Amino acid sequence: MLGIDLTGKRAFVAGVSDDGGFGFAIAKAFVEAGASVCVGTWPPTWFIFTTMLERGKFDKSLVLSGGDKMTFEKIYPFDAEYDTYEDIPQEVRDSKRYRDRGDCSIDGIAKRVVEDFGDQPLDIVVHSLANGPEVKNPLLETSRAGYLAAVGVSSYSFTSLLQRFGGLVKPGGAFLALSYMAGERVVPGYGGGMSSAKAALEADTRVLAYEAGRKWGHRVNVISAGPFASRAASAIGFIQDMIEYTTRNAPLTDKITGAEVGATAAFQCSPLGTGITGTTIYVDKGYHVMGLAVDENSPSGKSS
Ligand code: NAD
Repeated sequence: MLGIDLTGKRAFVAGVSDDGGFGFAIAKAFVEAGASVCVGTWPPTWFIFTTMLERGKFDKSLVLSGGDKMTFEKIYPFDAEYDTYEDIPQEVRDSKRYRDRGDCSIDGIAKRVVEDFGDQPLDIVVHSLANGPEVKNPLLETSRAGYLAAVGVSSYSFTSLLQRFGGLVKPGGAFLALSYMAGERVVPGYGGGMSSAKAALEADTRVLAYEAGRKWGHRVNVISAGPFASRAASAIGFIQDMIEYTTRNAPLTDKITGAEVGATAAFQCSPLGTGITGTTIYVDKGYHVMGLAVDENSPSGKSS
């Protein structure tokens, strides 16, 4: 039987702060397939995430299909805004949420992973994070600082991850990021430079696939997921409308689930996905192929 088998593989999934986002769903799919998983958690959410985990608040979501409860091998405080410790401003290092967390830069966590597990300890690296401080602003009202912050955290960090984790992943490894269709088409309300950040992430995926393929034999892909009510998406303010709009207008009319994104990630990062790199994989119920709305408010919906 052809099955997804990640037995003996170790993944680092950056961007897990609760049990409601794609990062958690991907980590769970990896564990279901036999991998061990370390996660990177943004320092402002690290304490609450680890405390809730310890107190059993996520126990229901942690149950695997066989009945066991999954565990994370390690939970690193990880801030994708900073490439090195020197980049973290002193006032941030001294602040409550960072002062006991050590070097949580991308470089710092790369070093800690080697300290904890030895050379080339990883097989898979996932970037499931984004942040745009001005996401609620239309692009016409977005400041340079807000735009660059969105691109820095949401896109450049993937390049930085490849730079610093590429050599820690065994040859033939897999890197994966999460994108959204707003990088290709206009989604009013997805502002603050976040659309630009997703466009950059998808373009970088193609270039990184070439460079990391030639350098290490790694593959680099991005999943473009449909709208899903995670904490980050809910902060944008109209995620439920986006979900409902998509269910009314996509070829498949049920909602996207985290498990569907997780299963695609597990396939892509498994030995079954070795022929695919540099690609945007849509997990959006087919919405991206539509050129005209078909719900009751649209011309085609009225005529059908
Ligand atoms: P989520 O809230 O589960 O994940 C976002 C994560 O980013 C959080 O854990 C947050 O703590 C983390 N983060 C923010 N700033 C960070 C930083 N500086 N360093 C490290 N981590 C940081 O929400 P999600 O929707 O599952 O988002 C995961 C990815 O999926 C993102 O790239 C998002 O853009 C993408 N995506 C989401 C949707 C959707 O509708 N939810 C659709 C397509 C793509």
